[in-house]
Amino acid sequence: MKRPYVYLVGAGPGDEDLITVKGLACIKKADVILYDRLANPNLLRHKKDEAICINVGKSPHHHQYTQEEINALLVEKASAGNIVTRLKGGDPYVFGRGGEEALALLEKGIAFEVVPGITSAIGASNYGGIPVTHRNVSTSFHVITGHEDPTKGKSTVNYEALAKLEGTLVFLMGVGNLKEITEELIKHGKALETPVALVHRGTTGRQKTVTGTLANIKEVVEKNQIESPSIIIIGEVVNLRDGLNWVEGLPLHGKRVLVTRTRQQASQLTTKIKALGGEVVEFPTIEIKPSENLAEIDKKMKAIDVADYIIFTSVNGVDSFFKRLRTLKKDIRDIGKGKVVAIGTATAEALEERGLVVELIPEVFTAEGILESLKGVIKKGDTVFLPRAEIARKNLVTGLMEMGAIVEEIPIYQTVIPTHRKEELLEILQEGVDIITFTSSSTANHFMEILGKENAELLSNSKIAVIGPITGKTVVELGLSVDCQGREYTIDGLINGIVEGL
Ligand code: SAH
Repeated sequence: MKRPYVYLVGAGPGDEDLITVKGLACIKKADVILYDRLANPNLLRHKKDEAICINVGKSPHHHQYTQEEINALLVEKASAGNIVTRLKGGDPYVFGRGGEEALALLEKGIAFEVVPGITSAIGASNYGGIPVTHRNVSTSFHVITGHEDPTKGKSTVNYEALAKLEGTLVFLMGVGNLKEITEELIKHGKALETPVALVHRGTTGRQKTVTGTLANIKEVVEKNQIESPSIIIIGEVVNLRDGLNWVEGLPLHGKRVLVTRTRQQASQLTTKIKALGGEVVEFPTIEIKPSENLAEIDKKMKAIDVADYIIFTSVNGVDSFFKRLRTLKKDIRDIGKGKVVAIGTATAEALEERGLVVELIPEVFTAEGILESLKGVIKKGDTVFLPRAEIARKNLVTGLMEMGAIVEEIPIYQTVIPTHRKEELLEILQEGVDIITFTSSSTANHFMEILGKENAELLSNSKIAVIGPITGKTVVELGLSVDCQGREYTIDGLINGIVEGL
């Protein structure tokens, strides 16, 4: 049995990349992860396959845990011999009740570590274009709970003292009490024209910032419907935002993008969306599995050295092909002298990484494009091998046969629907998704199968972006419409299509 251990980890303010290296390591080694509403759920992608995740934050779909229950759960899971990681939004000790959890563990003699995180007080300010201190403008900053209504009973927040401070005031949990907070500060002498900003869901794809003064911010917030979670920043530093607002000018800022590719393939798309300021929600609707018909596959794999051409139509095809080749104790020396064709640049890269020279990439990255570029190249009687998905369109085979080729299909992999909770998808869509991306017909078909036609109205506020015309056709057949499509059928093309189509 492992030694019971609990890591109380700050997940950062929202942008998943703002977790610390140490925090990420704690996710990777955990047997059980307890996470919050404010911790980015994308971080759970890094967990061990068998690790159990428990959402202890507020959500309409499950039991809401009290702090006492969370404390008890930490003790229970750790006592059972698990490494437990408790992921909390921002920093665990900044209004995060991390101290209470640590004390509960201490009381039971359970070893723990606390990993700091970037608090929203600093992270959301930064992404809102506001430095919390600035030379000659603000020499201190003060983080205050806005949770307590200062006008009711005895507030532990000393507004008289706060109003006298020259430094920046950052209120957390204060949206509901904004009126009282501003009134108390004004009452105690803070100037009416003091600049104020609210940053809603800072560092996430749905970040929204509004500014005003102590006198009018209440109306600004109401007009723009700014709700929790938001931070309130009060002080002259707010004026620096005009020049320092590097985030909100990014082309995908404020956009939440759903990525439906496989976990393994998502990263390239995810990284690019994030670099353009978008927030990514990964929800894979396909999973790649080796085909079951191994006898047929192996027979063809062993005969591949007779090929005149080998055509790869996806990265998955390349991966699965080489995996099987290895299992058969073969390598690139055994595949003969057949010329290698790749449907597009990503597939070509995957082949080149394995030491193969790609002879041909069509101008248009589709099966039709391949046929077009092989016209007059393929000779009658040439043998063409096609390692690809079990379900694949037949037109490539038909077209090649019309050119007189002998075609050997190798149905090397299958795409299956991952075991998903439909509720998870519904929750993601209810929270709001601006763009849904489909990089293949399978991702689109599976997406609708998981969602169910009866829930299609949940897509009414989302735009749909597809990698190319074939996927686009599938989307239309599913009763949806295509809003963005790139000119080049690659991930970069898709991204450009999204930016242009918005
Ligand atoms: N431990 C957290 C704070 C938890 S209290 C931290 O260090 O950030 C919850 C409050 O934090 C919210 O009411 C809101 O005021 C603030 N908050 C958390 N994440 C936020 C975000 N991404 N953007 C704006 N405010 C946020």
